[in-house]
Amino acid sequence: MLGAIEGGGTKFVCAVSDPALNIIDKIIIETESPKITLSSVFDFFSNHKIKALGLGSFGPIDINPKSKQYGYITSTPKLEWKNFNILQSIKDKISPKVALNTDVNVAAYAEFKRGAAVGKDSCVYLTIGTGIGGGVIINRSIVNNQQHPELGHIFVNRKKDDTFSGNCPYHKDCLEGLASGPAIIKRWNKTPSKLPDNHIAWEFEAYYLAQAIANYTLTIAPELIILGGGVMNNANLLNKIKSQFVSLINNYFDLPNVDQYIVTPALGNEAGIIGGLLIAKELLETKESK
Ligand code: ZN
Repeated sequence: MLGAIEGGGTKFVCAVSDPALNIIDKIIIETESPKITLSSVFDFFSNHKIKALGLGSFGPIDINPKSKQYGYITSTPKLEWKNFNILQSIKDKISPKVALNTDVNVAAYAEFKRGAAVGKDSCVYLTIGTGIGGGVIINRSIVNNQQHPELGHIFVNRKKDDTFSGNCPYHKDCLEGLASGPAIIKRWNKTPSKLPDNHIAWEFEAYYLAQAIANYTLTIAPELIILGGGVMNNANLLNKIKSQFVSLINNYFDLPNVDQYIVTPALGNEAGIIGGLLIAKELLETKESK
């Protein structure tokens, strides 16, 4: 059996599948302290014989195998998880074979292998929800270097009439500080789902997200941009982002068809778990072929 954990800031989704990635058992556990959350996680997996497990964790997390802190969640505002070695805990209790990556990298990889980016060699996946995070696939591989990319904390030009100071605890008005779900709530005193489609909030949102996509396009030049997360549930936001993006690029180069370039995820909420199973399967295959 293969196992997957999508370790998010609000919930942990755990699943078990057969080698063909058909999900056999699944559970959702609220994210509390490591002790409380992980004991439910271990209970769930104790009923299954896991050959390898893929962990996509919230972060920042050290995913550089050469680092001393490999497997540790690092500078999270969730204090109980700070400097916690999540990788080792899972290896000790579930399986010694654990493939580790960030939650968003794993979701990006799932969309690449089984979702919206099938047939491409590269893509950028961005999720806009309680935070903004993303994963990058280039040459069919997840991009991780010294650190994992943090696509949500890039800096964007402020809209002229935007007086909101931003709510990123580290940077104030980075992309996440200006455009995440909590930033929308703080700025407009309404949850995104309660804001009408014609509310100016969506112009602000499109303004910042289009800048981010223009920056990823100019630096990474991916074949596809995938936008997911709860904030994207607004029906008109995607089109607003596309038109702002086209005007920002301003014909600087021949763009692909914007409707085929900026898309929504194909796997919905399943991306994290499918990605976890995929990296578990690949880890097992590499180990078996050695
Ligand atoms: Zn930030």
